[in-house]
Amino acid sequence: MSNSIEEIASVIGAKRIGNHPAHIDWILTDSRSLCFPEETLFFALKTKRNDGHKYIADLYERGVRNFVVGTLTTEPESYPDANFLVVGSPLKALQRLASRHREQFQVPVVGITGSNGKTIVKEWLYQILSPERIITRSPRSYNSQIGVPLSVWMMNEHTELGIFEAGISEMGEMEALKPIIQPTIGVLTNIGGAHQENFTSLQDKCMEKLQLFKDCDVIVYNGDNELISSCVSKSLFTAREIAWSTKDNERPLFIESIQKDDTGTTIKYRYLGFFKEYRIPFIDDASIENSLHCLAVALYLMVSPEDIAERMLHLEPIAMRLEVKEGKNGCILINDSYNSDFASLDIALDFMARRTEDKERKRTLILSDILETGQSGKLLYRQVAELVHSRGVNRIIGVGEEISASASRFEIEKNFFRSTSELIESGILSTLKNEVVLIKGARMFHFDQITDLLELKVHETILEINLNALTDNLNFYRNKLKPETKMVCMVKASAYGAGSFEIAKTLEDHRVDYLAVAVADEGADLRKAGIGSSIIIMNPEVTAFKTMFDYRLEPEVYSFHLLEELIKAAEREGATNCPIHIKIDTGMHRLGFDPADMPRLIERLKRQSAVIPRSVFSHLVGSDAERFDAFTRHQIETFEQAAAELQAGFSHKILRHICNTAGIQRYPGAQFDMVRLGIGLYGIDPFTNQMLHNVTTLKTTILQIHDVPADETVGYSRKGVLNRNSRIAALPIGYADGLNRHLGNGKGYCLVNGQKAPYVGNICMDVCMIDVTDIDCKEGDKAIIFGDELPVTVLSDILDTIPYEILTSVSERVKRVYYQD
Ligand SMILES: *Cc1c(COP(=O)(O)O)cnc(C)c1O
Repeated sequence: MSNSIEEIASVIGAKRIGNHPAHIDWILTDSRSLCFPEETLFFALKTKRNDGHKYIADLYERGVRNFVVGTLTTEPESYPDANFLVVGSPLKALQRLASRHREQFQVPVVGITGSNGKTIVKEWLYQILSPERIITRSPRSYNSQIGVPLSVWMMNEHTELGIFEAGISEMGEMEALKPIIQPTIGVLTNIGGAHQENFTSLQDKCMEKLQLFKDCDVIVYNGDNELISSCVSKSLFTAREIAWSTKDNERPLFIESIQKDDTGTTIKYRYLGFFKEYRIPFIDDASIENSLHCLAVALYLMVSPEDIAERMLHLEPIAMRLEVKEGKNGCILINDSYNSDFASLDIALDFMARRTEDKERKRTLILSDILETGQSGKLLYRQVAELVHSRGVNRIIGVGEEISASASRFEIEKNFFRSTSELIESGILSTLKNEVVLIKGARMFHFDQITDLLELKVHETILEINLNALTDNLNFYRNKLKPETKMVCMVKASAYGAGSFEIAKTLEDHRVDYLAVAVADEGADLRKAGIGSSIIIMNPEVTAFKTMFDYRLEPEVYSFHLLEELIKAAEREGATNCPIHIKIDTGMHRLGFDPADMPRLIERLKRQSAVIPRSVFSHLVGSDAERFDAFTRHQIETFEQAAAELQAGFSHKILRHICNTAGIQRYPGAQFDMVRLGIGLYGIDPFTNQMLHNVTTLKTTILQIHDVPADETVGYSRKGVLNRNSRIAALPIGYADGLNRHLGNGKGYCLVNGQKAPYVGNICMDVCMIDVTDIDCKEGDKAIIFGDELPVTVLSDILDTIPYEILTSVSERVKRVYYQD
């Protein structure tokens, strides 16, 4: 297969400028992920907020010579030996190229869509089907308009089966993805409310998703779901259907029984007249449903029921995430046990490089053999070595026969071991200090043993933070703004409890204009950790001015007293033109200049050059409530006048901003030059009190379960009175962790295996008890205090407070664990 630049130009119908021979192996859409410049073709994609054309000069500098562009932004003469392929839409060109690539392969391709479970079904299918096939599949959850073409591009002459996910968030998107995936086998996992913003009904969404399957040979779905069944029959496909059903024994795959016990679930089924069974090591309903989809696909691909049963028994939970954890000896661990192919290695190394811009820390990679690629070891590890070198890894610890055989290819500090136990016995792991360690191994190498040794263990209670959800929320609000409106993201109070550094880093990666924190020390900590964005300090203490100058932090100024002190301090430091942000009080009556102060403020600011107003702003008191709309409009008007008066005193542009999250949503006309996004970033819509994409999950683990007779009580002061014989579980979380004591005595509940478990008796300082009498659970099972299925707003309603308070109450001692899909 040749990917010459001529051929690509003709496939995408581009006008070619520059006539240099080139061969393309890599497609790049995010300039930060560049790795092999010579063989890379960069697609300059334009999104609502960003424009890939801005990065062409930088990429050229770094060695990229091939570009697909929508417009020629500079003279091609200034880029000697580059090829520019000019097209109407680089995104369409990327999709077109991928679909032409796909057409070359006559192999079966599984296309998976649905609201939940796509990635798990994809990975489980991989576990079940890969022993006898070479499979190309979407890395992680690359399922978007950009992710799908990048995934399909990875198909090569070795591929015997493709498995790709398709995710959509708007009508019409599936039409673009269908020709790229061209599935022969379609799987619809389910239809739920996720990403519902842009669909008028669930039925519309279902019909849109089904578009993917128009030319499939077979479609797999849950025949018990009436919505899906009726949409499938309405679609009038000619494909064969494998609808599985637990109710209707006329369906091709009839599920006779589902039997759960302590350690797993046994499922009996009938297919083509045969009665068979299998068992999975999970008991939750989502896993059971996912396994049924996999069963149907595997049966269709004629895997024997015996092989299916054998492999189902060993299905592994999918860690769909790159986890960042605190390690021993000051190390930061990045754990990616997701899978171990070349594409996911590339993504994980990219993630490591971006998380560790401070060059002080050594970057160490612990990597196992990469299995089942169909490629020769020699070529594969030559590529791995190139990748490792170009991503700035300082040391590699390789585990496995194959990677050890290619040890000489790595020209950095290195150690190789034939097995995981050999590595552990070597004692080398205890020498890792203050490093960033990426741990990436195929399942059979059991790298969880390595993680166990390196991880700093504290407490079974953790706050998990989903960085993808944060980004989704950011984009949700960005889409409500005019393209030129700037954004401040509020990361005060440790980013509403989520932990400021990782959040700030993620926001910086997405190029937000400003970050804002409450006090100077928070800002200084972000700078020390390597955050370079502009940072506003909302409550600048007079004692912390020096910190602000040292770390280029920009204070809010709300009074003449503060202004005088600041000018004095800046002059002492010899500083000039320090940016400040002027706050005006338009009705909150908390902090701020009176609008009538503007003339005096202008006069004072003009008489000095130590500080300069960068922005002027005010804060709305009731933007989330209709009953205050008249007052809000009054605030906006007052602000607009005061800001105009201030601006008239200066020749440089002073940015104006007044909207918080609810303001962005409800007052699109009051965006001015900038907005300040807070609670919405963390997934809460303050107007409806509904959740957008949930970001934080507080979870813990059942420590112990007691059978307690009806006449006994639970906890302090004998408050936990029982009215039946009960099973009571103890959780290692109490009010000192931020679990509000008023949730005790049955007022609140947590979730265990998806079911409500009320708090029994008083919540203690470090422990609490819950009633699990009616819940199928065991010691070691997880309990969700709040998260996806138990929104934080449910807790704030019970406690008669606001979600802000719940989020910011999770105490420091609860470990934060970040992940991204
Ligand atoms: C906290 C804060 C915000 C953000 O408010 P949300 O309701 O969380 O969006 C905006 N502006 C100021 C001045 C703030 O203190």
